[in-house]
Amino acid sequence: STVNFALVGLGSLSTNQIAPALQKTKHAKLVGIVTGTPKKEKIWADKYGIQPQNIYSYDTYDKIVDNESIDVIYIVLPNGMHKEYTIRGANAGKHIFCEKPMANSSQDCRDMIAACNENKIKLGVGYRCQFEPHHLHCIELARSKKFGSLKAIEAGFGFKIGNPNQWRLKADLAGGGAMMDVGIYAINACRYLTGEEPIAVTAQETKTDPKKFAEVDETITWTMTMPSGVNCYCSTSYAFNGINRFNAYGDKGWFGLDPAFGYGGIKGRSSAESIEFDATDHFANEMDAFAKCILNNTETKVPGEEGLKDLLAIEAIYRSIQTNKKCEVATA
Ligand code: NAD
Repeated sequence: STVNFALVGLGSLSTNQIAPALQKTKHAKLVGIVTGTPKKEKIWADKYGIQPQNIYSYDTYDKIVDNESIDVIYIVLPNGMHKEYTIRGANAGKHIFCEKPMANSSQDCRDMIAACNENKIKLGVGYRCQFEPHHLHCIELARSKKFGSLKAIEAGFGFKIGNPNQWRLKADLAGGGAMMDVGIYAINACRYLTGEEPIAVTAQETKTDPKKFAEVDETITWTMTMPSGVNCYCSTSYAFNGINRFNAYGDKGWFGLDPAFGYGGIKGRSSAESIEFDATDHFANEMDAFAKCILNNTETKVPGEEGLKDLLAIEAIYRSIQTNKKCEVATA
């Protein structure tokens, strides 16, 4: 059987990745849309056979409570809107899948988790790499200690951002800059590779274009210490292309992915063997997995707490930049 999805926010990710992925899923089906742009209604209805009764605007969104043919609401709006649309969707009794970063702050994440718990619905966060074969293999290499105990991880993700007027450069809509958007992939990878939560961070920011990056961070380098002593050396940037990787170093060898975090073309290497898997659709994988959790009433491996923990690390990183001191990461 299938689980019926409605997408909220029909921007680039919904249009180019999520809707096409929903044509490949086995357990998840695209049935509904929520959009603020009336002309998209017909385009999407024609392309994906969306029925008129499953089309909502941001004003009529709460009426989704009466729609039994929608099971999951997938929030694909700018980061600063995730909280409101998650809580409204949860109050409508629907399961929520929310894009990363989960929200602008850890407090917002806590409020979202509470709303989903109160409504007894499932909440998942769009950490697609946790459903990707190369990443899953690397997690297994770490757990099995094939290369010994991990000692250090290098991880980074960045890109050169274009249009200076986009929401990703506005603090209220984005919550932060490169760190919130793509640095989060490095944090998440360090956490899933070690299976540990960072204790403390040190961080510094470089700003070469204070006008473009007046409201959000441009380039950040940071370190994170894990309880077992693993040191993580990380970076993120909106100023240049190319950093898109992790390497994990154990006392008997190393392994890593470069590129690591894009939608395709992932390449793995290690000190012992090649790491090669067929390309998969990360979005189809994550949505099928979430659909199965709903069908079988099991826990998702990317619950709200997973989004919250990354925000706690990000907040410690921002504190470290402001204070120029090593900062502890708050516990979830
Ligand atoms: P986008 O700008 O292409 O789309 C955003 C959508 O939100 C647009 O349809 C826009 O009309 C709508 N919107 C509603 N109110 C808005 C407002 N006040 N300002 C701006 N837009 C508004 O963005 P996107 O790239 O599709 O990103 C959407 C979300 O998906 C973000 O949270 C982003 O971090 C996440 N994302 C995740 C991945 C991934 O690989 N998992 C990749 C890209 C984006």
